[in-house]
Amino acid sequence: MFCPECKSEYKKDILFCEDCNTSLVEKLPDEIPTEEVKWVPLESISGDIYAEMVKESLENAFIPCYIKTDFMISAFGIRGSGIPITKAKIYVPEESFEEASEILYGMMENDI
Ligand SMILES: [Zn+2]
Repeated sequence: MFCPECKSEYKKDILFCEDCNTSLVEKLPDEIPTEEVKWVPLESISGDIYAEMVKESLENAFIPCYIKTDFMISAFGIRGSGIPITKAKIYVPEESFEEASEILYGMMENDI
């Protein structure tokens, strides 16, 4: 038997988790789908200011995302100088990847 709250395993004759005050179940339910989001990186972007702009556009399109910058480079204090040295990668859920790519490429075209 398993406790759905703390995931502890119990002997078969125990039906109640004393820690959680919860009835035990024979099988733990499947993980909640939202915890299984697979994050994939979009094409890397030069400059974290630009990455912030892309992030804002993605958020406007209701696509969750986060930025991962090359920490080795940004640690030197170049951040904010406008020199496109910092490499930033934007991660989006795999299911939103195509939509996010379109937004990114759209922004790149506007930039040229
Ligand atoms: Zn428990």
